[in-house]
Amino acid sequence: MASEPRHPAGRLEDRISPGIYAEMEQHVAGCPHCTSLCDSLKRTLALCKALPTPEVPGQVQKCLRQAVAAALAESRQ
Ligand SMILES: [Zn+2]
Repeated sequence: MASEPRHPAGRLEDRISPGIYAEMEQHVAGCPHCTSLCDSLKRTLALCKALPTPEVPGQVQKCLRQAVAAALAESRQ
C-alpha cells in the first residue's frame, strides 16, 4: 500500500513546538495584518487541496524548511 504523499508545509507544521504555535495563534488573533494573511493562505491551501499533489523535490523541501526556520528565528529576536 503506497503511503499518502505528505506536503512539506504539513511536515513543517509538525515540527513547530506547541509553545511557539500557541504564541503564533495568540499574535494572529490580535493582528489584523496576520489575520488577513492567514485567511488568504487558508483560501490558497483550500484551492491547492482540490488539486492532485505533485512530487516536491527533496532539495525544495529542504530550502522551504530552512527559509521558514530562519524567518521564525528572526521574528523571535
Ligand atoms: Zn502580525
